[in-house]
Amino acid sequence: MSLRSICVFCASSPGTDSALLDVAREVGAGLARRGIRVVYGGGGSGLMGALADGALGEGGEVVGIIPGFMVDREWGRQDLTELHVVDSMHERKARMAEHADAFLVLPGGIGTLEEFFEVWTWRQIGLHSTPIALLDAHTGSGQGFWQPLLSALRGIYEAGFVSEASLEDVVVAATLEAALEGLAERASAGETCILRPGS
Ligand code: AMP
Repeated sequence: MSLRSICVFCASSPGTDSALLDVAREVGAGLARRGIRVVYGGGGSGLMGALADGALGEGGEVVGIIPGFMVDREWGRQDLTELHVVDSMHERKARMAEHADAFLVLPGGIGTLEEFFEVWTWRQIGLHSTPIALLDAHTGSGQGFWQPLLSALRGIYEAGFVSEASLEDVVVAATLEAALEGLAERASAGETCILRPGS
């Protein structure tokens, strides 16, 4: 299955390492160059804004899905291909998931982590079959951004609270190219799930 639309979760803040802003911009541009539509939270700040800049700069399609209260705070971008204004954070996540063939998680904070863990948990219990990748982008210090989280997860695995299958179910990749390869492989496995039987 080819990936036509990818939902990207990432930081709404710029963070302290400008290399990660560049990564987000490059990911947006790279997806646009491959003709892949970007679906994201519709914000204009931080890595979210850089992601949209990168994709729009390459003439890509960008769909933002944002709750009304964030638009009222002027957090939404007005120059996207489409901006869907929804009633709640829950509706936002459901709509983002509906529009995506895969989830890609870039560096971020607690909002990004919450989004990642929800889609991962839901995949683990069979509520959807959309593949998930963590982009373990290198920070200025040379370490993959998600390494501390991956260490914590390995500790949780050793304690017997997460299965090896669950850990292996998430693609971890240092580059967009490798992430897309892993996602496409899992997407074409044609797994079935409760919400999309036979998909
Ligand atoms: P974080 O990783 O904590 O920056 O959270 C990213 C997520 O937080 C986004 O997907 C949004 O749900 C939400 N968010 C927080 N601040 C903003 C903002 N200024 N604009 C848009 N979304 C935001």
